[in-house]
Amino acid sequence: MVVYDLICERNHRFEGWFPSFEGYQEQAAQGLISCPTCSTTDVEKLPHACAVHVKKEIDQRRPESPKATPPALSDAEAKEMLIRLNHYVREKFEDVGPRFAEEARAIFDGRSKKRSIHGTATQQDREELDEDGIPYAILPKPELDS
Ligand SMILES: [Zn+2]
Repeated sequence: MVVYDLICERNHRFEGWFPSFEGYQEQAAQGLISCPTCSTTDVEKLPHACAVHVKKEIDQRRPESPKATPPALSDAEAKEMLIRLNHYVREKFEDVGPRFAEEARAIFDGRSKKRSIHGTATQQDREELDEDGIPYAILPKPELDS
């Protein structure tokens, strides 16, 4: 499950839940993602997401679980959850910064100690991780206005 921070052509920001990056791409290609405020389907993904690699998801032999329906969250709930998740990740996960993709791959291959890490990944890093079936999650940074 990935959460993307999305923005429409009129600058309304909202979050979208997708089963995977491919799931997002498919829905975007088919114009299925619309802004909850103005319903335009001219929506883009904001680039500043950070990536999280969760230790317990590493077991690659487990058959893929059925795709869950994205939970319906209000904006406030989604934001609250994101803030908590960001705090949790920052406290408990090792920060590997821009080496995220490299480290996630090393852990996946067993070259590095199994642990939970967080860091940043470029679009290309993510596509490569997707291609190799290395699990990770995208965690948008909550906006701390106020
Ligand atoms: Zn809008």
